[in-house]
Amino acid sequence: KDGEPPLHILFFPFLLPGHLIPMADMAVLFAARGVRCTVLTTPVQASTIRSVVDRANGSSSSSAAGTPMSISVVPFPDVGLPMAAQSGRDLATSRDYHDRFLQTVELLREPFCRFLSDHHADIDAVVSDSLFHWSAHAAAEHGLPRIAFLATSMFARACTDTVLRSNVFESCSDDHGAVVSLPGLPHRVEQRRSQMMDPAKRPHEWAMFQLIHAADRSSYGELFNSFRVLEPGYAEHYRATQLRRRAWLVGPVALASGSLEDVASRGAVAGALSPDAAVCLRWLDAKQASSVVYVSFGTMTNFSPEQMRELARGLDLSGKNFVWVIAKGSTAASSDPSTPDGFPTANRGYIVRGWAPQVLILNHPAVGGFVTHCGWNSTLEAVSAGVPMVTWPRYADQFYNEKLVVEVLGVGVGVGAEDYASCLETHRVIAGEAIAESIRRVMGEEGDGAAMRKEAKELGVMARGAVEKGGSSYDDVGQLMEELIARRSSVGC
Ligand code: UDP
Repeated sequence: KDGEPPLHILFFPFLLPGHLIPMADMAVLFAARGVRCTVLTTPVQASTIRSVVDRANGSSSSSAAGTPMSISVVPFPDVGLPMAAQSGRDLATSRDYHDRFLQTVELLREPFCRFLSDHHADIDAVVSDSLFHWSAHAAAEHGLPRIAFLATSMFARACTDTVLRSNVFESCSDDHGAVVSLPGLPHRVEQRRSQMMDPAKRPHEWAMFQLIHAADRSSYGELFNSFRVLEPGYAEHYRATQLRRRAWLVGPVALASGSLEDVASRGAVAGALSPDAAVCLRWLDAKQASSVVYVSFGTMTNFSPEQMRELARGLDLSGKNFVWVIAKGSTAASSDPSTPDGFPTANRGYIVRGWAPQVLILNHPAVGGFVTHCGWNSTLEAVSAGVPMVTWPRYADQFYNEKLVVEVLGVGVGVGAEDYASCLETHRVIAGEAIAESIRRVMGEEGDGAAMRKEAKELGVMARGAVEKGGSSYDDVGQLMEELIARRSSVGC
């Protein structure tokens, strides 16, 4: 209503880039629609996330027509770790992954609760990362709706929900090849047991899962960085059958927020700008359309030196041009990818060490395929760019995302990953021949390669349509805003 202050939403992102980047983009897109957005974060993240907010406040495509955004900072508790580790990012990715990860989630509880006590009167809703399960209770204590942000696909979420609610493992042997059926989903979903998080093998992770899901179910609703036609039938399924949960699909947020071209701010969020981004893009300029495969496994994946050699061999055998990102700090960075002899081949390969301008690379006309670990952001970025995938999942939601890409959407080929194992655990080595064959299939002119490329291009067009005025994601943003405004009036009465 005229004269009423705009909605004020507090965004509270988790600290890893795969969570932080999409939530920052999401805040930008709500600000562009007139919502007052505050991003609550830690000192290390604040200095990096500032570039996203500054750009949004200064850009004509987003906030010029909307409401300025702001950042609030809560201290990261002193747990006797060096400052770099206190960003949470290093904490979560350090050796003893799970304890550290859980610790990171817990450490921010107290500062968050204190902030909310001081500021709740001024806030209409809290959008917090699903991992911060305790924020549901904290928001409820102040009568605030908590909306969980899920850094995953709705498909993966519906699958894990089914696993948690029905005893799917009970009637299944624990042989390596055993297959588990997930009942009641819009598609027939069968998954190898070895590719799933197994409660018997991972009790801590499983318990965390249960906490997170319970908190999300008790929340006001859930926000997904996705769009309806990408996950056919799942929005309806979620609303109708799954305890009548409210959910909004508002993505791809990178397209909606206009941050796509902004390599600098995305790199800054991860604290790892690539010095040679421009060189890499120039290298691509000289290549033929759809002739290059892009190879990257996100921010958390480590490969053994043996797997790195096989990957190098696979790229060589594929005969295709490639851009290969070797993340800083991964085990692989210290091994030498120039083996076997003669690799990388002449002018065929470009290796990025550190942070690659992924979104720009995927949208470059020279790129025709993406070898990916199926992290949800990477998957969505490939979909948005209309690029088919070679899928190489490792853990978390990645095997479900692979299923969506390969079996439901038909825009990818699996490399043959069989085992769910987190970043520092041992994986069965995928041979160079298998890697080369999947790449050739996805990049090939004939057979299913051509069909996949066509399908991927169409999905890219639909992704753009979803965030434009009148598109499904645009409408979902509007619907959530209306609900929150209506709630404000009813609470105020
Ligand atoms: N990313 C990037 N350059 C890199 C590595 C990663 O821009 O060199 C971005 C990528 O575009 C995506 C995010 O970091 O937005 C990684 O998220 P994803 O969910 O794909 O994987 P995660 O790292 O969380 O496993």
